[in-house]
Amino acid sequence: MSEQAGASNFIRDIVAADHTSGKHGGRAVMRFPPEPNGYLHIGHAKSICLNFGLARDIPGGICHLRFDDTNPTTENPEYVQAIQDDIRWLGFDWKGKIFFTSDYFEQLYDFAVRLIHKGEAYVDHLTAEEMRAYRGTLTQPGENSPSRSRAIDENLDLFQRMRSGEFADGTYVLRAKIDMASANINLRDPVLYRIRHTTHYRTGNKWCLYPAYDYAHPLSDAIEGITHSICTLEFEDHRPLYDWVVEQAETPHRPQQIEFARLNLTSTVMSKRKLLELVEKKLVNGWDDPRLPSIKGLRRRGYTPEAIRTFCDHIGVAKRDAIVEMQLLEHFIREDLNKRSPRVMAVLRPIKIILDNYPDAQSEELEAVNNPEDPSAGMRKVPFSRILYIEQDDFREDPPKQFFRLAPGREVRLRYAYIIKCVGVTKDPQTGEITEIHCTYDPTTKSGASQEQRKVKATIHWVSEAHAVKAEVRLYSPLLVTDPAKIPPEHDWTSYLNPNSLERMTNCLVEPSLRQTAHGMRYQFERLGYFCTDLDSTSDLLIFNRTVSLKDAWAKVEKAQPAR
Ligand code: ATP
Ligand code: MG
Repeated sequence: MSEQAGASNFIRDIVAADHTSGKHGGRAVMRFPPEPNGYLHIGHAKSICLNFGLARDIPGGICHLRFDDTNPTTENPEYVQAIQDDIRWLGFDWKGKIFFTSDYFEQLYDFAVRLIHKGEAYVDHLTAEEMRAYRGTLTQPGENSPSRSRAIDENLDLFQRMRSGEFADGTYVLRAKIDMASANINLRDPVLYRIRHTTHYRTGNKWCLYPAYDYAHPLSDAIEGITHSICTLEFEDHRPLYDWVVEQAETPHRPQQIEFARLNLTSTVMSKRKLLELVEKKLVNGWDDPRLPSIKGLRRRGYTPEAIRTFCDHIGVAKRDAIVEMQLLEHFIREDLNKRSPRVMAVLRPIKIILDNYPDAQSEELEAVNNPEDPSAGMRKVPFSRILYIEQDDFREDPPKQFFRLAPGREVRLRYAYIIKCVGVTKDPQTGEITEIHCTYDPTTKSGASQEQRKVKATIHWVSEAHAVKAEVRLYSPLLVTDPAKIPPEHDWTSYLNPNSLERMTNCLVEPSLRQTAHGMRYQFERLGYFCTDLDSTSDLLIFNRTVSLKDAWAKVEKAQPAR
């Protein structure tokens, strides 16, 4: 990956200043803490670029990968593996520092016993419903639970029996003893441990007692010696609890929590819960469906890690939530692919052209430039012959005013080839549909030949019938028909899915150089966009995904609203 340092932002400033001042003993230790309950998405990429990027750019910086696996019902090893693959693919490395919260269960239990000893935690038997009633509201203080005054010895005994499996789920919880009247509801004696008789994917049936996120997370940070625990804004109100937990547990390290705004994108969904729903209800074809903003989906669609990193760097890190236009992400992949993709010709909706004056048995190899942005990419040969295909869109029998492509009596240039002129059409006598377009070619106009440059208004792409390879091309449109923020919460969000988000074009033709393609290879199909070879592609049936169209919708959006 490029070793260019990330763009500056307020979190970088804090970590760099602390590093210089020696606040955490001169250490800078970050962590990326995914819960293995789904695949990563582009929002996680923002957090990965931030945390691993800091570790990369600050001398001696480290970023741990920690699986925050405290919920036995939703987590599994498939996700653990996929998350590691995705981080590596994005170009980052935890350098052996891989951890699991489930490895700390014993230590976390010991910390809880310490809190009970100190009179800072107690076992409660209120039902979830009663607990809600005692908690109070934003305007009303809560009330102390009758268990709050339980003796320390009794708490210790009950907590031990909770662990040993004596009690059923939901009968007892361990709570922090903080302040039921606090203005911050998170401090009204939050639950630290729940009983759950469920098998955990790593610890099996060893535990039936599982720690709450707000308890396990700060202590895991402290155990690992994390200096800066960077999380999204919804945890801002939890920070006093975070600080309380590490202080009461008297851990040697005191990590510091810093919040930033999560990434939201228009016209798609981002939460793992919703992505899982799409996958489980088979509304998409798995976690790597190219319509999804999952890392696996973007990768299959043809996104590069470089483009995702540049995007994350560009959007920056702020303290205020915002929604980023999908077109901005598309802008960065387009820029990256423009530099790296070889140009090829493919016809998605073919219509036949017959060159009446081109000899039947003849064909020739024309010189084509692989990438005008990259002279080192060289040239290739494209075969040309009497029968060709062009896009249906590039011909109009009755052309409107602004249409400059092929039409009866009109001339266009065939890319890398000759100027042709339409001299007539053949129609199906039944349907009246055009089946063939008859043209003549002008042999004096071969591309690259340096004689008189005749002016034509359009250059169009084509493939030769005798040489082209059949292919399927998959075009993608936004997953949702509206922005997620505009969906009323009482509506079923899946009813806003775009029914046309996937369009499979099964009659496409591509130039013969693509016969040798391999999964994941990227191209610009001239005039059509950037494409990559899909995982389903075989030598019998080539399949390509459109990563992004050529048209820069972002440039338009930006023009319309210059102040971002
Ligand atoms: P989701 O809400 O999508 O289910 P999550 O926050 O539950 O995601 P975690 O596995 O807990 O997912 O996230 C791991 C890390 O990634 C956390 O530090 C979280 O703050 C960060 N993260 C998750 N979503 C985003 C986002 N949209 N933008 C930035 N960071 C994110
Ligand atoms: Mg989470």
